[in-house]
Amino acid sequence: MTTEQLHRAPVLVGGEELPTAYAPVLNPARISETVGEHALGGAREVDLAVSAAVAAFPAWATLAVGERAAYLLKAADSIEAELDDLAVLITRETGKALHDSRGDAVGAPKLLRQFAALADVIAAASERPAALPRPGRAVTRYVPMGPVGVIAPWNTPVYLAFNSIAPALIAGDTVVVKPPEEAPLALSQALALLADALPPGVVSNVPGLGTEAGAALSAHPAIRRMIFTGSVATGTAVMQAAAPTLKSLTMELGGNDAALVLHDAEIDDVMVREMVAGVFGASGQICYNIKRIYVHSSRFPEFTARFTELASRIRVGDGMDIRSTFGPVTTRAQYDRVLALREETAASGAKVTTVGERLDPDGWEDGYFILPSVVTGAAPDSRVVAEEQFGPIIPILPFDDEEEAVRLANATEYGLAASVWSADSDRAWALARRLEAGSVFVNVHRVGASPASVPFGGFKHSGIGRTHGLESVFDCMELQAVVEYEDPSLLPGTDHWNALLEARDV
Ligand code: NAD
Repeated sequence: MTTEQLHRAPVLVGGEELPTAYAPVLNPARISETVGEHALGGAREVDLAVSAAVAAFPAWATLAVGERAAYLLKAADSIEAELDDLAVLITRETGKALHDSRGDAVGAPKLLRQFAALADVIAAASERPAALPRPGRAVTRYVPMGPVGVIAPWNTPVYLAFNSIAPALIAGDTVVVKPPEEAPLALSQALALLADALPPGVVSNVPGLGTEAGAALSAHPAIRRMIFTGSVATGTAVMQAAAPTLKSLTMELGGNDAALVLHDAEIDDVMVREMVAGVFGASGQICYNIKRIYVHSSRFPEFTARFTELASRIRVGDGMDIRSTFGPVTTRAQYDRVLALREETAASGAKVTTVGERLDPDGWEDGYFILPSVVTGAAPDSRVVAEEQFGPIIPILPFDDEEEAVRLANATEYGLAASVWSADSDRAWALARRLEAGSVFVNVHRVGASPASVPFGGFKHSGIGRTHGLESVFDCMELQAVVEYEDPSLLPGTDHWNALLEARDV
């Protein structure tokens, strides 16, 4: 591939590309192939982008919500026209199967439209009367906050970035985005279309390393809010960088989601297929994939056998090959980590059953391909159970009663999502309410189960705040109270002040 054909992710500020050094973006299915290159933006480029966001903020914030919605709809149309190209690019930079990449790309126009559709509700809820104890008038009003920084991870780069951008924009905030260095290309292409549809400076893009561009954005004094999606470790670094300037935060972090299969669960093809999709979707690299399965001991052999049988039909190959159930994992670090985890788990005495088909055995070593593994007999405190694997390996463990199931599911610092599988909806709901997770699903647990209308986010170390829903819009706004009294002298303290001031006069 020649340099001319390479996809590029430049720094884009106020509609202008800024000159920087570049680093290559590789195809995880064929690491000898360079898909494109991304700018190595740093503190200087972040500063220019934030200055543009500061300059664009007053006019953007003053528009009526409906006017901002019209801009978002225009951007959605132009991104939608490029969906096929964007999906292919996502597959080439993340390795994901094309159907997963399509789901990622379509998130951009879908989220812009869904948040634009909230315009009337936002406008109506933005200002409300507040009760006063004495005669007078008071309102609370949500007002745009200022420039917002968005940092996205590589696993679902376009959807997750727009999941943060769309609520901020409709709220009246301007946005500076730092894409993931492993998969910045499709997102940067979508951001160029978005920026082009909006007034200059409302959206800027600073690709670069997390420790450079990401750290500079998190610390920038003029950024009022950080919306971060990624790992707990990096989320903590972002919070630390944001603390000196007291930014507000949304943190969408990792998970170690438990799925509880109760004694009365309908273990049929539909259920097991849902489970396999929930575990192995995007090679296990989704924040709310199922990461631990607990099955009532009376059903453990039956469930494990059916699950393993269905998982053995998985075909792993280049995401561009439509026969691939899933592609390679995206990064070298994930590849090494998951293989080490598999080895360590097998060495611990647990049973590791590796299944599935290699679609291209000859090209297997050229990419970060990993077949799915099903683990039984793992110790509850082993890493494969206690840590987020973020790859195609899943532990299945038995439990004897529902108390134990709840205890096991909650025995983690994570709290992103969980699921309960039962033929009895009431029983499942009762148990669901006892789980410490931001989302609890009943008889489902996979990408697509959390629509943009329902708030999404984690308990405990899985996050702070919520994306999706009206809540995510108001999180991007400041709440202001305006208060007037008919007779301020009726307020407490008047006598005290009168007495003091009269005493002074004497
Ligand atoms: P990561 O934390 O390594 O990187 C995420 C982003 O942070 C990247 O853009 C990276 O460049 C940037 N970054 C790195 N160091 C930084 C620093 N010091 N300051 C500022 N930014 C920095 O995460 P990842 O490995 O890309 O993503 C995988 C993790 O993300 C998993 O734990 C997964 O569960 C989580 N995740 C959570 C959600 C959610 O909605 N809760 C969604 C997707 C992924």
